[in-house]
Amino acid sequence: MFNVHQFRQQFPYFNQPDAVIYLDNAATALKPQALIDATVEFYQSAGSVHRSQYDEKNTALYEQARVQVKKLINAESEQAVIWTSGTTQAINTVANGLIPYLQPDDEIIISEADHHANFVTWHAIAKKCGAKLHILPILDNFLIDEQVLVSALNARTKLVALNFVSNVTGTQQPVQQLIEKIRQFSTALILVDAAQAISHLKIDVQKLDADFIAFSAHKIYGPNGLGVLSGKLSALEKLQPLQYGGKMVAFASKQDIRYAELPYRLEAGTPNIAAVIGFNAVLEWLEKWDFEQAEQYALHLAKQTEVRLNNYQNCHLFSAPQPSTVISFVFENIACSDLATLLAEQNIALRTGAHCAMPYLARLGVPSTLRLSFAPYNTEQDVQAFFTALDKALSLLD
Ligand code: PMP
Repeated sequence: MFNVHQFRQQFPYFNQPDAVIYLDNAATALKPQALIDATVEFYQSAGSVHRSQYDEKNTALYEQARVQVKKLINAESEQAVIWTSGTTQAINTVANGLIPYLQPDDEIIISEADHHANFVTWHAIAKKCGAKLHILPILDNFLIDEQVLVSALNARTKLVALNFVSNVTGTQQPVQQLIEKIRQFSTALILVDAAQAISHLKIDVQKLDADFIAFSAHKIYGPNGLGVLSGKLSALEKLQPLQYGGKMVAFASKQDIRYAELPYRLEAGTPNIAAVIGFNAVLEWLEKWDFEQAEQYALHLAKQTEVRLNNYQNCHLFSAPQPSTVISFVFENIACSDLATLLAEQNIALRTGAHCAMPYLARLGVPSTLRLSFAPYNTEQDVQAFFTALDKALSLLD
């Protein structure tokens, strides 16, 4: 049985005297002691990785992290685990990497469900290559319309980027089903933005049949400044490197340069070793917990919150069509920023704004929402503290 108190004890943040009620987990997760210990240990050691005899221990931990990620998402091989600085850099690596492969009048499909990491990147690359950007609308239940997607596919479609779980409403797209459809009608490459999905779903990238998948370590209790690009080796091999430099070449002379094999070909320069080694410790630590039970518990807290918010006459919720740990809402005639300020004054940490998803917000018809997002270290006391603070804030704004 998942034990929230034992899980919560893993996070030293809660012992800080100025700790707030943290309900902004979709932005970034808190960090467990396991990450902090591994990071400190690395910084107390000498050297880099893959350079010298004396850095063998760190090199082993660094490469072990790839094995852990391979296990986490059932990647084809460790070679198909590429370190980036985050989801954003992973998507940019794919987008820039495909430039030689994109011709004017080719087509790229994204959707209104996308975070700016996808939306803006593909917008810019389409412009650069003279490709046509096709933006799929989302339905009133926030799902991509499969029929519209199918009818958007044609012989010139080169890339479809799919959001897996929305950071705005928590809506989960039926990515597996959508990919099957795309494969039926097109030879386009498919990228899945799993930034939000990674901490909530068991992902099997091979079963998904995605060409590329991107996520950030910091959303799943890992360090900042680290992300993963994975997918099919055959697709990753198509990518022109985003960056050039050390460690990404097998041979360099005045006349000739030969790039290294994957994953190193896409990892120029000294990597973020502390983050990778820290992430290795996080993934090892995470294996000790029942991921599904932890998720069910967080979903239960979110559901309780949603039911209670629904009792407020002037509250409008943007509820996902399936259970979700993310709750976006607005109060009629109250600016989200005013409410967020009054909640912050009472130590409630939530997110307000456009959530780096302005086209999504435009679709919702509001400039911003308030967003609560739960993790398995949250408690019923956190929910109660939120409602006590909300009632006070609303009474002040009355
Ligand atoms: N996509 C989604 C759905 C996200 O929620 C985020 C982070 N908010 C990103 C992409 C970008 O992640 P990062 O900022 O870690 O690169």
